[in-house]
Amino acid sequence: MNAESAAPRYAIEPQPIPALPIAGSELLFPVHRVYCVGRNYAAHAVEMGGDPNRETPFFFQKNPDNLNLTGVFPYPLASKDVHFEVEMVVAIGTGGTEIPVAAALDHVFGYAVGIDMTRRDLQARAKELQRPWEVAKAFEASAPCSALKPAGEIGHPSTGAIWLDVNGARKQTGDLNQMIWKAPEMISYLSGLFTLQPGDLIFSGTPSGVGAIMRGDVMHAHVDGVGEIEVRVE
Ligand code: MN
Repeated sequence: MNAESAAPRYAIEPQPIPALPIAGSELLFPVHRVYCVGRNYAAHAVEMGGDPNRETPFFFQKNPDNLNLTGVFPYPLASKDVHFEVEMVVAIGTGGTEIPVAAALDHVFGYAVGIDMTRRDLQARAKELQRPWEVAKAFEASAPCSALKPAGEIGHPSTGAIWLDVNGARKQTGDLNQMIWKAPEMISYLSGLFTLQPGDLIFSGTPSGVGAIMRGDVMHAHVDGVGEIEVRVE
């Protein structure tokens, strides 16, 4: 059998592999899964009605093809209350299970700036009914993301400003050092639940100040040392 005949043949055209650009490189970072941390900044946990002293952070997922590199966020279906959440994104370069905290950063390829767009009205209903969050979190174009910066170039940011402006007005502001779970703890904990794979992303939670956007708004998100993105709502 030659290589050509061994190649899989699909009944329908497969979807493209979701991928992030890597700053300063022509290579792409292929994305496997997108994990997100909930309530990882105490002040945001409080604004969402939680108590950071009683609840530990937790995880949910978006779909890899929800990543949005277009600079445009199309206002989604089925919601009238869509919120921004600026987050640092951790990109996993080597996988594993039950990774110790002390070794966790060795698994990181790099970092990016992301926005965890959220249909807050649908999330509120899901919480009320004790249903999962997919409809609130895992919808089309819901994960605007910057290019990745390799850890080999920028190190592992654990302190520095994280903020988001809407139309030039500061809405969210925090510091990476306010994260309840730092990157090593997230990686270690996640790897005890799932097999982390190269290409996994972790959206690491948002500082306080989340709020709604409207069509025509421009979001500008920034993480010190990692980068920034601008996204127009259409
Ligand atoms: Mn979030």
